[in-house]
Amino acid sequence: MQPLRSAKRGAGLNAFPATEEAEPRVYARPGLPVAVPDDSPMARVSVPAADQSIGVKHPVLRHGFVVLVDYMGNDAAIVQAARVSYGQGTKSVRDDRGLIRYLMRHRHTTPFEMVEYKFLVRLPIFVARQWIRHRTSSTNEYSARYSIVPDEYELPPAEEVRHQSTRNRQGRADPLPPEVVDRFRSDLDSVSKEAYAAYTRALEAGVARETARLLLPVAYYTQWYWKINLHNLFHFLSLRLDPHSQEEIRLYAAEVAKLASVVCPVAFEAFEEFQVEGLTLGKRERKAMRALLEGKSPTEACESAGLPLTRDDGKPMNTGEGVEFLEKLERIRTLD
Ligand SMILES: Cc1cc2nc3c(=O)[nH]c(=O)nc-3n(C[C@H](O)[C@H](O)[C@H](O)COP(=O)(O)OP(=O)(O)OC[C@H]3O[C@@H](n4cnc5c(N)ncnc54)[C@H](O)[C@@H]3O)c2cc1C
Repeated sequence: MQPLRSAKRGAGLNAFPATEEAEPRVYARPGLPVAVPDDSPMARVSVPAADQSIGVKHPVLRHGFVVLVDYMGNDAAIVQAARVSYGQGTKSVRDDRGLIRYLMRHRHTTPFEMVEYKFLVRLPIFVARQWIRHRTSSTNEYSARYSIVPDEYELPPAEEVRHQSTRNRQGRADPLPPEVVDRFRSDLDSVSKEAYAAYTRALEAGVARETARLLLPVAYYTQWYWKINLHNLFHFLSLRLDPHSQEEIRLYAAEVAKLASVVCPVAFEAFEEFQVEGLTLGKRERKAMRALLEGKSPTEACESAGLPLTRDDGKPMNTGEGVEFLEKLERIRTLD
């Protein structure tokens, strides 16, 4: 059996040169132990730029932050895993960057699972409730049963206190009159202070921490370690960087993406190209696209493809498949 070759520290995408030998390398054979030679110790791959940001707090919102605690793997680990599948000859067909882009386009996802990240995140409870819905990760949260919650709550800046959106029922849109904004912010401030005063009173009176915390609103902060592999991180980011997600979690997602991309710049480039900036079209959208190519207007194209733009009473729709198709066209038109 041929030995496993060690990764070369700092060798970037070429840390795992793949298949220049005549014989395919044997990485593991069921039932047989894998020999690790004494003269060629396995070295942990590292990305110097990422190592520099380990332990550094990146502020988000009023009291929050994201810290990269640790990572495992890099772009080369993705390539190495893929080449185990594809074997000899892959190298000559496409280079490492091309291979990663191919994997991303064709949703060959398991090589991306070879890269892992661990973050420390401090975030308001209302953001944490959205974040924790992503089940394909590991979380260990600060326990308000053991420890006293610090007096830190989120107070959005005035420009983030906006009118309820009519297009996105979960979102915010137009500006509000300044007096409404001021009133909301001052109410949030006083409610939070009152709540914390009651929490302190309860603790001082001997109420258990696990019960006293019921007094704290969702604007208060919590903290957790969060570990996730790159495939699942891409899924998280594709949902939480999207404009349909709440602004606050998008800010966290952007910070996580910034830190994670240093570890795997090529994979992130492909993610941005094919997922963040990519578009998918349904069958009727493809029909509408064909109508556009035949010279029809967007409205005619939607009509001919059965993508509704008006309600039964003739009023224009704010949401729905037709509106979303027009939004996709707008994204194409406004591409940099
Ligand atoms: C803009 C936006 C609005 C939202 N609004 C709401 C809302 O109003 N109410 C609400 O409750 N939630 C809401 N969510 C949360 C949403 O429904 C998902 O729970 C959340 O985005 C996590 O997505 P996920 O399950 O794909 O991710 P993960 O939990 O990370 O799972 C990743 C993938 O693993 C697979 N998977 C994991 N667990 C299972 C399982 N048990 N069964 C089958 N497949 C599984 C699925 O393929 C899944 O896509 C919203 C999310 C977004 C982004």
